[in-house]
Amino acid sequence: MDLLERRIKEDGRVLPGDVLKVDSFLNHQVDPVLMAEVGQEFQRHFAQAPVTKILTVESSGIAPAVFTGYAFKVPVVFARKHKSVTLKDDMYTSVVYSYTKKVSNHIAIARKFLSADDKVLIIDDFLANGQAVEGLIDIINQAGAQLLGVGIVIEKTFQKGRQLLDKREIPVYSLARIKAFENGHVVFTEEQEQ
Ligand code: 5GP
Repeated sequence: MDLLERRIKEDGRVLPGDVLKVDSFLNHQVDPVLMAEVGQEFQRHFAQAPVTKILTVESSGIAPAVFTGYAFKVPVVFARKHKSVTLKDDMYTSVVYSYTKKVSNHIAIARKFLSADDKVLIIDDFLANGQAVEGLIDIINQAGAQLLGVGIVIEKTFQKGRQLLDKREIPVYSLARIKAFENGHVVFTEEQEQ
């Protein structure tokens, strides 16, 4: 997605540890015009999929997920993060190791918002090592729901998340694919329509 790549080039900052800071349009301040385009692009790509629910993780996945839910006209559920969790009967829970914060969080979704009838599209801001998406897949499996695909705003192809999902034959669509950070600059993979 050209618009997004241009914005990353202009506003993104590469931090130590292969972390891209995009807090001016995605991770802190949010550009709703860009997010609306993001939502429409995910809807266009997954238009044939009979999606009933969008799932994401708080907090950075919420903006792109809500705009995608708006494009599909389906509800959006975000998993809540907790340092620890007292297991409750009314929640699905999983454990996710955070790449950027280097800590494990429990994520939880209330059972009443996800059922075996749901056909789910996962949306997230970044794909790095795939832990956040794996946690959501674990919850989808607990609910007996069906995963139709994964939409990612920014993928770092040099980390192992994409490989994990490809191995499981899960359809993944990323709007910007970064193959490397070189001297503080972002290098994208050659563009693609997947
Ligand atoms: P993963 O679970 O795939 O290892 O990492 C995905 C999560 O970590 C995303 O939801 C995102 O919040 C965070 N993350 C991973 N890499 C980056 C990055 O380069 N920049 C930012 N801002 N967040 C990242």
